[in-house]
Amino acid sequence: MKRILAILALASICTILSARTPIKAVIVTGQNNHNWPVSSVAMSRTLQESGLFEVTIATSPAQGGDMGTFNVPFADYDVVIVDYNGDDWNEGMKAAFLEYSDNGGGIIFYHAADNAFPQWEEYNRMIALGGWGGRDEKSGPYVYLKDGKLVRDMTPGPGGSHGQQHEYVMTRRSSHPVAKGMPRSWTHAKDELYDRMRGPGNIKDLLYSAYAPSELGGSGREEPLVFTVDYGKARIMHIMIGHAGPTLEDNPAMDCPGFKTLLIRSAQWCAGRKPSVRMR
Ligand code: ZN
Repeated sequence: MKRILAILALASICTILSARTPIKAVIVTGQNNHNWPVSSVAMSRTLQESGLFEVTIATSPAQGGDMGTFNVPFADYDVVIVDYNGDDWNEGMKAAFLEYSDNGGGIIFYHAADNAFPQWEEYNRMIALGGWGGRDEKSGPYVYLKDGKLVRDMTPGPGGSHGQQHEYVMTRRSSHPVAKGMPRSWTHAKDELYDRMRGPGNIKDLLYSAYAPSELGGSGREEPLVFTVDYGKARIMHIMIGHAGPTLEDNPAMDCPGFKTLLIRSAQWCAGRKPSVRMR
């Protein structure tokens, strides 16, 4: 009995220690058709303010620079946040990224990360859906919700578009641990709403979707916006929302409590922890 109690005590100490050890996160950025100096710092602040993370921002050379010098030691981190849309990574860094995911690494693909690397087949499987960069029917089907179910639509056409920015309702579609502690629906601050995305479509769990109204230039469909990806042992969360504003002070989509909570809970889950932070 004493031994069992000792084991139980040890187990609870281990739980406390693991809950208190900061999660090591790296934000990969440096090139983007978006305001990455704002988005990377905004995400870093959100994660650090939760008191749960130790965050590093890994900044690539500028576009056209020597990408051979850019190597992120992915294996040192519990979660990798991809905030990058630019020049190809060098072969060593690409291989290290695949190895990290094959070993069960945690990855968040944030907003325009799904515009990146249209020709990199494995990357497209890791994001499940992408847009722009010449993506079309050869990239895979359009994937969206019809009568509450995901459908794959092979209609030819370009992948990736969005209408005017507006506030929209995010609707929960799953009891995934990240979504479970979040509202069934919330009104997201003014943001882009990615639509007509296409790709392999290997979505595992769809957490949130939103309707893209055609009167604002959207697809007129319910679009999958937050989902996990079925990709080996990797723990992948794809978050399409959160277009960066012009400054950290004028950044409504990323300051939205829904976005912030989703980011923190996703990063906890990707790192193999239990999502604990509630929306305020
Ligand atoms: Zn955007």
